[in-house]
Amino acid sequence: MTDYKIITDVEALKQKSEPIDTNTDYPEDMDAVLSCFPPTALGLAAPQIGIFKRLIVVRLSHGTFVLVNPEIKNSDSKCPSVESCLSLPNIKRRITRSLNTEVQSDVVIKVSANGPYWMYEDIREKTMSLFSQDAFVVQHEYDHLEGILITDHPPYENKKATDKKLKRTQKIANARLVKANKNTHNTSTNSKKISCKQAAKLKQLKKDDKRERKASKKRVEIQERYRAMREGSI
Ligand SMILES: [Zn+2]
Repeated sequence: MTDYKIITDVEALKQKSEPIDTNTDYPEDMDAVLSCFPPTALGLAAPQIGIFKRLIVVRLSHGTFVLVNPEIKNSDSKCPSVESCLSLPNIKRRITRSLNTEVQSDVVIKVSANGPYWMYEDIREKTMSLFSQDAFVVQHEYDHLEGILITDHPPYENKKATDKKLKRTQKIANARLVKANKNTHNTSTNSKKISCKQAAKLKQLKKDDKRERKASKKRVEIQERYRAMREGSI
């Protein structure tokens, strides 16, 4: 039997795996994947050992299973999942996963370790409804069949926290806007005050000018009258 080991070549891991013909060679691929499955790991996909076929092994809360040609249906409800990967040593990532997953496979085999050997049990029920951690494990391994790694997922974003932050930012921006408008209003009031003052000054100047002209006219009239008196014309 070929000696398989877990590969860490990211470029190789990004290729999509081929469906398995369940009439032919999947038991050999299954043995190969199980031979590389660490006792503490939660899952391993065939492409992680260089077999680009659609087979995964998952350790779930109700047992360890080999799933051949799995297809998944994810729920809309999302939640954070902190994950690491045997193919990406020293990387931990908090990503978004669906809380529930329904997985349907062509073959489901329950396995249990018996020393260096694995015991196999065929399961008739090909569909599993999984929740939380179990759902995350299957989604993670299914991703490997599609050539997707945890580093391809955007980091988890807490929408509630983001909305709260956004609201706070908007509140600050609005407060600034109100302050800015107030300042503008004050400035225009000031300029209005200045123009009123100027208008009053102008009015006063006009008034003074009118009075001066009237007084000057009066002076001329008096002078005319005195001259007439002197000349005896009045
Ligand atoms: Zn992985």
